[in-house]
Amino acid sequence: MTGVDSQLLLPDIPGIDRHVHLEGGLDPGWVRDQADATGQPVPASLEALWRGESQPFTGFIEAFLFSSGFLLNREAVRSALGAIIRRLPAQATDPRCVDLWVSPHFLVRYKQLLSLDELWRGLSDAIADAGRINVSVAVVLDAVNHFGPKHGHEVLDLVEGSLPGFVVGFSTGGLEGVPFRDWAPVFERARSKGLRIAAHAGENGPGENVRDAILHGGVERIVHAVKAAGDPEILALLAERRIPVDVCPSSNQALVENLRPHPLPVMLRAGVRCALGTDDPGVIPCDIAGEWAKARAMGLDEREMGLLRRFAVEDAWALRR
Ligand SMILES: [Zn+2]
Repeated sequence: MTGVDSQLLLPDIPGIDRHVHLEGGLDPGWVRDQADATGQPVPASLEALWRGESQPFTGFIEAFLFSSGFLLNREAVRSALGAIIRRLPAQATDPRCVDLWVSPHFLVRYKQLLSLDELWRGLSDAIADAGRINVSVAVVLDAVNHFGPKHGHEVLDLVEGSLPGFVVGFSTGGLEGVPFRDWAPVFERARSKGLRIAAHAGENGPGENVRDAILHGGVERIVHAVKAAGDPEILALLAERRIPVDVCPSSNQALVENLRPHPLPVMLRAGVRCALGTDDPGVIPCDIAGEWAKARAMGLDEREMGLLRRFAVEDAWALRR
C-alpha cells in the first residue's frame, strides 16, 4: 500500500477484485528475476511505474508488453493468477472472488508466447488452486478496441472451439479508437456463445464513449468510465440501466491525466453501481485493500462505503456463474 494509512480500512472489506488483467498481474519480483535470467533490461517506464510514478499511456503499454512477455507456459500462467489471488486482503470477509480479464489473442497469436491449450490449462490449474481457498474466478476475454472489429472476430475464431466453462465474458480494452457501434456485431456474436459483454470506456477516450458503448454497442458492464464523471446525463444513464462500473483508483490516477480528485464519490452519489479493481497490480503496484483505503480517503461516508461493498458482491460475474 502506498501513501494511504492502512488504519483507514474497514474490518469487513470483501475480498473481491472486480477488474484485474492476468497479463498485468505478474509479481514484480518474479518479472525482475525473469528479466535478469534472460539478460533483458527492465524498461525505464516499468521501473517508473514500480516506483509509483505516473506514465503516459504509451509508457504503460511498453511496461505491460515487457512484463507480460514472460507468460511463456502453463506454469507461468498459474503463477500469474496465483500472484493476483495472493493480493486479496487476508482479513477479507467472504465471498472472495476475482473477475479476471485475459487476452488470449495477444498471448497466443500476436506475441506467440504459448499455445491456447497451455493458456487454458494454466488458468484451470490456478482456478483450481483458488477454489481450494474458497476464491471464485471468472474469466473475461479481452480484445483490443483500436485493432477494430476484424480483430474482435479473430479473437472469437481463436477461442470458440475450446471455450472453457470459466470464461463468462468478452470485453474490449486498449485505446478507445474505434466507435462501439462498429463493435456491435462482434459483441452480438460473443453473446450468441453465451458470453456477457464489457468494455473499457471513458478511460483513455472521452466520456462520450461510455454512452456509445451502452446505447450502440450493447455493452452491459463498463470498466473505468472516469472521464464520464463530469457528464450528469451519462452518469444517469449508467444508474438507470444499473450498469456495473469497475473503478481502479491507483491505475486511473497513474494513467488518466488530471484525475485529482478521483471521481469515484461523484459517480457513487449519482447512483452508479461502482466497484473496485486493481487493473494491472504487477505493473502499477497496488492491492484491493489499498484501493478500499483510497476510496475511504476520498471522503466516502459509511453509507457510501456500504454501497461500494454491496455492488462489489452483487455485480461480480465470478459469483453469478
Ligand atoms: Zn483494464
